[in-house]
Amino acid sequence: MAISFAEERQWYCPNCDNAIVRLTWLAIDLVERPDLRAFFTSESWTQAACPRCAFAVSRGLPLLITRLSKVAPVAMGVPDVLADAKEPPEISKPVIEWPAPQAGVDT
Ligand SMILES: [Zn+2]
Repeated sequence: MAISFAEERQWYCPNCDNAIVRLTWLAIDLVERPDLRAFFTSESWTQAACPRCAFAVSRGLPLLITRLSKVAPVAMGVPDVLADAKEPPEISKPVIEWPAPQAGVDT
């Protein structure tokens, strides 16, 4: 079973209250999906332009990256508001719990 997964999520524009339904990657295994490396290394995973007002809507969910490299086999990208957290935020739980069994890891 694949580690990488994405689902349709609603992003809310704080500028005009528009709800944006967008395919949102929650976990990316770069061996399974090397085509998504450029997506992860760009800023496109952190924000989306609101189709109504063009405001840059920031992502509220973390993104789990596995097999990024030998020195960083697992990485968690988090929105700026969570960057200073000492513990993985509660919002990260589903992102961590989904791929763990596929990777043979107990949570
Ligand atoms: Zn908007």
